[in-house]
Amino acid sequence: MSRRVLIAGNWKMHKTAAETSDFIKQLAAMLPQKPNVDITLAPPFTALETAVRTAGGMPITIAAQNVYWEEKGAFTGEVSVEMLTCLGVEQVIIGHSERRQFFGETNKTVNLKVKAAIKGGLAPIMCIGETLEEREAEKTLAVLETQVTEGTAGLSPEEASKLIVAYEPIWAIGTGKTATPAMAQDAHAFIRKLFEKIFNKELANRLRILYGGSVKPDNAADLMAMEDIDGALVGGASLKPDVFIGIIKYDF
Ligand code: PEP
Repeated sequence: MSRRVLIAGNWKMHKTAAETSDFIKQLAAMLPQKPNVDITLAPPFTALETAVRTAGGMPITIAAQNVYWEEKGAFTGEVSVEMLTCLGVEQVIIGHSERRQFFGETNKTVNLKVKAAIKGGLAPIMCIGETLEEREAEKTLAVLETQVTEGTAGLSPEEASKLIVAYEPIWAIGTGKTATPAMAQDAHAFIRKLFEKIFNKELANRLRILYGGSVKPDNAADLMAMEDIDGALVGGASLKPDVFIGIIKYDF
């Protein structure tokens, strides 16, 4: 089964609207006419409109970094699915470890957000991954199983087919420590098997599972060579166009 590679940049709390527009123009100037990979950028909320407008006609999809599950109401500071889709945003990162760690995101809220996003036509990039403590205690697979099972609870196979998963071992995010390709492959193969068990084999075979955690131009090719690694969710190395392009062109 060949799955198209997706390289996604998560900008976290970086870049104004003007910086976003500059970045996209600079990246576009370096992109091959028909890139071999899908490309996503996830700027902060305040730059999404600019991002969609600047990336219009380019092979770049725009994602948000979070969303709320209710359609509207007294939820100060939150942003709904429709507020994003009407801007032209097509994907949303849900359950990033920083949101789990600093903002109280749980598997339950991830599930509510995943369901709301799919219902409203936004493709979720659902993030999962273990802490260093959990890995050292050999709990990685159990943690992943709970995150996948609870995060996808109540989805029909048709709904689940809209999902993208990002496996991000928390100890590898922003630390310069990357899981070895073999370690990442083991986790990805396990996640794919979980999707087969929960949904079905065809869905599992089509599911794109991205790796995240200190992906750089010089380690991207070795990670992407693994059978079950279908792309990357990139933090730090997505902030400069001349670095990010090195990941997009990992196989050049
Ligand atoms: C991330 O933010 O999802 C991430 C993987 O960050 P970094 O690439 O900086 O480790």
